[in-house]
Amino acid sequence: MNVAPPALVDEARRLGAELEIELAGLDEEAAARRALAAVGAAGLCAWTVPACDGGASTGGLAADDSVSVRVLCELREELASFHGLLDVMLVMQGLGSHPVALGGSKALRAEVLPAVATGASIAAFALTEPGAGSSLADVSTRAERKGEHWILEGHKTFISNAGLARFYTVLARTSGAPGDGEGLSMFFVPDDVWGLDVEPFEVIAPHPIGDVHFRGCELPGEFLLGDEGQGLELALQTLGRFRTTVAAAANGCARRALAESVARLSAREQFGRRLTSFQGLRFDLAEMDVRLRAAQLLVHEAASAVDAGSEATAEVARAKLFATEAAGWICDRAVQHHGGLGVKKGSVVERLYREVRALRIYEGTSEIQKLILARALLS
Ligand SMILES: Cc1cc2nc3c(=O)[nH]c(=O)nc-3n(C[C@H](O)[C@H](O)[C@H](O)COP(=O)(O)OP(=O)(O)OC[C@H]3O[C@@H](n4cnc5c(N)ncnc54)[C@H](O)[C@@H]3O)c2cc1C
Repeated sequence: MNVAPPALVDEARRLGAELEIELAGLDEEAAARRALAAVGAAGLCAWTVPACDGGASTGGLAADDSVSVRVLCELREELASFHGLLDVMLVMQGLGSHPVALGGSKALRAEVLPAVATGASIAAFALTEPGAGSSLADVSTRAERKGEHWILEGHKTFISNAGLARFYTVLARTSGAPGDGEGLSMFFVPDDVWGLDVEPFEVIAPHPIGDVHFRGCELPGEFLLGDEGQGLELALQTLGRFRTTVAAAANGCARRALAESVARLSAREQFGRRLTSFQGLRFDLAEMDVRLRAAQLLVHEAASAVDAGSEATAEVARAKLFATEAAGWICDRAVQHHGGLGVKKGSVVERLYREVRALRIYEGTSEIQKLILARALLS
């Protein structure tokens, strides 16, 4: 099933093992910057950018010469098994910059993407607003044409890398009213543009995130990505390429949780016997293993289809839904197997339990994946 160069996956594993404890001891911003510097220096960020724009050559793994979803899945599964920030900081480089790869002018791509591929420039992807989450057509941030420029006005929330990013790819309304998906366009917005303001906040696991306000930001005409009105399509194409990798990250958390359960139940004795001798707990391990394996197979199916050039809408939704829900359950069982240690701050399973939760929410909630699947079944 594995297609990534073995040395690349070994490097991700080596990095994870080396940095897991160090990252846990740093504050959030320092840990995020350390994680990105490490994945950048190891050459992993190059796999988030197409080869023609300064990224790694996939040797034909992705039919359209784009980034390979299978390689990113293998990297995310590995990194997420050690620390969520290694995983998040890697993938945000791809998610935040992909609209530039899809819709940027040659000059903009040449200016922006090679630095993303080394980790020197941090990317962010700004779709969500206080009034537009699952329903992106409701975006109300506005971009109005003023001569050769655009003036951007609005408020985004839950934006990963807010405050760290060198640039944001922003979905904004250029025509119509909230609810009209065809009136949306995508823009490249550098972090140092006048009128951009960030308010960071915290979520339950380390993850740089916050609100981003645009108050009359003036953007040159060439910062429009793709055509006017094509913004929702660019956003959905980007999500279509990266969503399966969320499922792979969930598998990394689940794989680690299962390993932690096996180790703890094998070592711990109660009632004069090892915990692994109790059938109820053995059944748990078997169930965790089956769900993880099923999730890995679904990820492989979806990632292979996207790499082959298919939209694979149903396969991607199935993988994201099943893997993230399964990982939530597996991490929960691992906490239970550790008893009190499972909720003691600093234990691995306590961290996994917090890190895995958001995966059922971002890049399309579980409910949205069910709607996508049902639509495919009923069409
Ligand atoms: C850690 C984290 C990182 C994030 N990073 C980014 C980022 O970098 N960029 C970005 O743009 N966004 C980001 N997000 C935002 C994320 O994509 C949204 O939170 C997500 O799309 C859900 O939107 P919402 O929070 O507004 O929930 P809502 O859309 O308000 O949904 C609330 C609940 O209602 C359910 N629901 C909604 N509609 C339906 C329906 N039709 N049928 C059934 N159930 C429904 C949802 O599934 C959910 O359970 C991030 C979120 C988190 C938690």
